[in-house]
Amino acid sequence: MFSKEILLSLHKPARYINQELNTYHRDLKEVKLTFCLAYPDIYEVGMSNLGFRIIYDLINQDQEVLCERTFLPWSDLEDYMRKNNVPLFSLESNIPLYNFDILGISIQTEFNYTGILNLLNLGKIPILSIERNKNYPLVIAGGSSCFNPEPLADFIDLFVIGEGEEIILEIIKICKNRKKQIKDREGRQELLIELAHLEGVYVPKLYSVDYENYGKIKRFYALDSALPQRIKKRIVSDLDNAYFPTKTVVPYIKIIHDRIGIEIMRGCPHNCRFCQARTIYYPKRERSIEKIIELANKNFLSSGYEEIALLSLSSLDHSEIKKIFPTLTQFFKNKGVSISLSSLRVNQVMMDLLKEFQGMRRVGLTFAPEAGSERLRKIINKNIDIELLFKIAEEIFKFGWRGLKLYFMIGLPEENYKDIEEIVKIVYEILAIMKKRNGTGTIRLSFNSFIPKPHTPFQWLPMENTDILKEKINYLKDKLRNKMIKYHFSPLQEDWLEALLSRGDRKLCKVILKAWEKGARLDGWREQFNFLAWEEAVKETGINPDFYIYRKRELKEILPWDFIDVGIEKEKFVIDYQNFEKLS
Ligand code: SF4
Repeated sequence: MFSKEILLSLHKPARYINQELNTYHRDLKEVKLTFCLAYPDIYEVGMSNLGFRIIYDLINQDQEVLCERTFLPWSDLEDYMRKNNVPLFSLESNIPLYNFDILGISIQTEFNYTGILNLLNLGKIPILSIERNKNYPLVIAGGSSCFNPEPLADFIDLFVIGEGEEIILEIIKICKNRKKQIKDREGRQELLIELAHLEGVYVPKLYSVDYENYGKIKRFYALDSALPQRIKKRIVSDLDNAYFPTKTVVPYIKIIHDRIGIEIMRGCPHNCRFCQARTIYYPKRERSIEKIIELANKNFLSSGYEEIALLSLSSLDHSEIKKIFPTLTQFFKNKGVSISLSSLRVNQVMMDLLKEFQGMRRVGLTFAPEAGSERLRKIINKNIDIELLFKIAEEIFKFGWRGLKLYFMIGLPEENYKDIEEIVKIVYEILAIMKKRNGTGTIRLSFNSFIPKPHTPFQWLPMENTDILKEKINYLKDKLRNKMIKYHFSPLQEDWLEALLSRGDRKLCKVILKAWEKGARLDGWREQFNFLAWEEAVKETGINPDFYIYRKRELKEILPWDFIDVGIEKEKFVIDYQNFEKLS
């Protein structure tokens, strides 16, 4: 689409060319439906998302559908496109977004919200759902950030709540049969009503919200009593038989996760009170060792990648992990392929597996104690034996690793400076072990601010005040000053935005729109993050961010996301919240 001259003037032009190995190309004349799968961030981020890859491959198994990908351009190409009136188009066939029947957007983080608006606008599709007529695609969205869809209610026609591979073909089947209705105003409304009866589908314009004078929700309701009052998350019941690609798309440029990713387990058996991922991917389901080997081998043969990452929220909790890891390592031993494991846990299985890890690429091993003191770990329900972490560190350094990485959170409920001091002690203890064993190395630390996320037992709590967080960060920076320690703190302005958007309701649509109008774009990229645009957007729309971020909510309050049924009853969160209160 772009001339060589233009491409060569851009940063990383390979983001914008197509024909990567294992992509799909189909004749437009031979299909019944066109589907553009969009990621509201740049290519390297979108192509690193496993869910995005699964859906792309799955839809393309249907020969009657043409499914192509699109990503946001970096600012240099965006400037060129706007100046020259070039619409955003799909990678494979360069079809402008407005010409597709369906635009399916994958939403994985709140930092993509303005990216969604930018994607629609660059694709020459009206941003507001009510302004889209029959000439435009049906705009649907799914992904882990759709578990509180309300801040995006004005922009999206239909949300998929839950696991996309379980439902997307049902939506496509209905749309194929009702293709004429997509392109007809009255018919489209009928189509949306029909789709809204599918389990896991939420059509915001078919629901309404009443507010009390001071902004709390009084009532959330379906406009038609025949529609479901609550939207039940769709889940894959049998992971072994769930669709998973056997061909990995191989990009021309290095992407964030540049390897084969095989999901070995979905869900997590633990119940950390701050953790939203546990709820989103609930319940725990395992893929069998036979299936894992089959998928790993097929993807290896079709791509030539030399690294296979075994993925899950907590890989050591797979009941067969002690067998899976050595079996795969052995299987790929003479093929020059390394196996890596994500999301490790401090437990006996880790201790037992350490010897096997010797063949693993020397990528950093990462653990997440999250809190410094035993007391605080009990409060957040993160059960980790710190003495065992020290033993694991001993072994890791003995086997030649040059460092490790630890994740902590600050601003946790009931946190005090004694808890923070315990973080410092843990870090220096591990540093001492590393020095004793290797003499050198690096301890990497990542600190995130605690954000009380929807669908967790902590969802009623306020976030810690920014000034207090700043003090804690300064304290830690001062105490952790050492050339063998490297730390990163999540920027507080970004945390503020994440808290606002993740805990918001429909009233935030106007803030997101205003922030985008003021230039907010790729919010997940530090160099592009425009905090001023957000500050002004909040002010000009009259929204009080403190109402969403710093207000303790009552247990009886109707929360904006209560109508989403995640598979865990709200009552269970209430009980767990009360258990937390007893501890504090
Ligand atoms: S923080 Fe990790 S271990 Fe805890 S529930 Fe979430 S995924 Fe599981």
